[in-house]
Amino acid sequence: MKPEIRIGYGWDSHEFKPGIPLKIGGVTLPHDQGLGGHSDGDVLLHAITDALLGAIAGPDIGSLFPPSDPQWKNADSAIFLKEALQRIKIAGYELVNLDSTLILSAPKIGGHAGAIRKHLAELCGIAADCIGIKAKTPEGMGTENAAIASAVVLLKGLEG
Ligand code: MG
Repeated sequence: MKPEIRIGYGWDSHEFKPGIPLKIGGVTLPHDQGLGGHSDGDVLLHAITDALLGAIAGPDIGSLFPPSDPQWKNADSAIFLKEALQRIKIAGYELVNLDSTLILSAPKIGGHAGAIRKHLAELCGIAADCIGIKAKTPEGMGTENAAIASAVVLLKGLEG
C-alpha cells in the first residue's frame, strides 16, 4: 500500500553572471546580474522540482533534463517544474504545501516574496498561503557570488 503522505527535499546553487536576467521562482527580478546555468538558472524552481521528484523517489532534475542536452539551453525552468508536478500526479499524489529558503547576498528578496509566492501558486496549483519563501544572506559562508535555494514539499495521496 502506498504511503498517504510523503515529503521531498531539494537543493540547488547557481553562480551570478553579468549580462543575463535574474529569474527566481519564475519571476524576473531587477538586478545587475543573473544566474548562470544551462537553462534559465532559476535556482528556486530547480530546488522545488527536485523536492517534488525526491518525494516520489523519482529521477532527479539533472537526470531528466541533462545539461548536455542542447534542447534545455536557456529553457524556462517552469518546464521542469511542470514535468515534476505531472510525475507526482501519475504517482497518485498532489502537492499540499511547500517551503523554501534562499541564500544570496543581493538583491533583497523580501520586497519580491509576495510576487514570487503568487507566481508559484499559479504554477503549482496551490494557494499562495501554502508557499513559504524565506531569504537569508550568506553570513560567513563565502558564497557572495552564488544563489542557493533549498525546498521541502509535502504530498498527499489523491482520493480514490
Ligand atoms: Mg540548477
